[in-house]
Amino acid sequence: MFQKNMELELLIEDIGVNGEGIGKAGGAAFFVKDAVIGDRVLVKIMKMKKRYGYARLIKVLSPSLYRTKPLCDYYRQCGGCQLQVLAYAQQLQYKERKVRNNLERIGGFRFAEIEQDKQRILFHPVIGMEEPFFYRNKAQFPVGTDKEGKIITGFYAARSHTIISNRSCCLGADINEKILDIVISFMEQHHISAYDEASGTGLVRHVVIRYGFVTKEIMVCLVINGSSMPGADKLAAELQKLPGMTSVLLNVNEEQTNVILGSRVIKLWGQEYISDFIGNVKYRISPLSFYQVNPVQTKKLYETALAYAGLTGREIVWDLYCGIGTISLFLARQSKRVYGVEIVAPAIEDARNNARINGIENVEFFVGKAEEVLPQWYEREKIFADVIVVDPPRKGCDMKCLETIVKMQPERVVYVSCDSATLARDLKYLCERGYELREVQPVDMFPQTTHTECVVGIQRKHI
Ligand code: SAH
Repeated sequence: MFQKNMELELLIEDIGVNGEGIGKAGGAAFFVKDAVIGDRVLVKIMKMKKRYGYARLIKVLSPSLYRTKPLCDYYRQCGGCQLQVLAYAQQLQYKERKVRNNLERIGGFRFAEIEQDKQRILFHPVIGMEEPFFYRNKAQFPVGTDKEGKIITGFYAARSHTIISNRSCCLGADINEKILDIVISFMEQHHISAYDEASGTGLVRHVVIRYGFVTKEIMVCLVINGSSMPGADKLAAELQKLPGMTSVLLNVNEEQTNVILGSRVIKLWGQEYISDFIGNVKYRISPLSFYQVNPVQTKKLYETALAYAGLTGREIVWDLYCGIGTISLFLARQSKRVYGVEIVAPAIEDARNNARINGIENVEFFVGKAEEVLPQWYEREKIFADVIVVDPPRKGCDMKCLETIVKMQPERVVYVSCDSATLARDLKYLCERGYELREVQPVDMFPQTTHTECVVGIQRKHI
């Protein structure tokens, strides 16, 4: 049948996890990079397995109606945006379908017949953005040198650590470009070296920028392979001239690793944090803490989580994987008491500060793994919860955490997820043990990329 080097025509009908187009022929699926849903293409097979193959795009025979002109010149090389040539409405459709498919295929849920114990599972249309560009409040630019030895910064090419020189990214804030210009000219003038991953030598590894969309406060943090930087005060003096500059920091990372930030922060100028608002809650954000990157969509995400929590002011709420307490504080004003659990200690420090600056007193935060803290408290103190919120990283909840949730029997569980496959797996577990899925709301937190976020509402079954 199909063999390597064979050419064939395909209609692209779907998108793979890395944004590649998928077309079918003779019972096999083909993955084609740079092809878009709706394209009719001529491809050449590069690699063939039993039921699927990888093919290279030779020619677009008739372009999809959904193709759009990318905003960024580097979108094909850069690993950041996989979907920029696909019209935004189709990006949204794709994300909705992905969540639905995973919940059906992995979780065994059915949305077509929405009767389940006479209760409907509502699958809501994905919430998109009005302006799906320039939405990120955080950017991390790797610094390196090009073939001529010139210092460059930009983005990693897809699936590699080769830096593509580009200081203006259309997902990030406008101010990033200006900041990078200042940092790179400073490095050139003061002969500060860029880090070289292969040898582990050189000083400046990354420039991390955070921007408060509401407050307009800016943080610049240079990640360095050393414990000091010559002329650092001169750089700080330059950066201070930018309106909104609030925090200029160094972060020490001397490990040969892919992890961007090290654990030590050195203040060069200003505060060690910036502030921002989501709704009317003010958050203090330090360089090491997790903070949602798309503030406009985060508000919609949290409002949905709040609605699914069904609070009346009398509830005890546990917010697991709470980061800097964003969801905890969002829910606190409408609950009796909220307990937050998070593994990163500085994030919990931020969470406690955040509670204080908002005058919120009915919250308490614990440092530790959700799968350890929750069972410990449950076994020792027989703690109770009306509502449990979880917002785990991509790998989903630990089994021990899910087991404890089932033992605690909260009335409602709100699950915020950035990976609908692990979400589906965890929901299946809960729904086989006395819970039922009630509502699903995908929210597009990362336009132009294949990443998909959603929040679901789960209810305890009453016999
Ligand atoms: N709810 C927060 C953070 C969500 S991101 C918000 O919306 O901003 C997931 C968080 O889980 C991160 O802060 C990460 O540090 C934390 N985390 C990862 N593994 C964990 C674990 N096993 N136990 C508790 N927290 C964990």
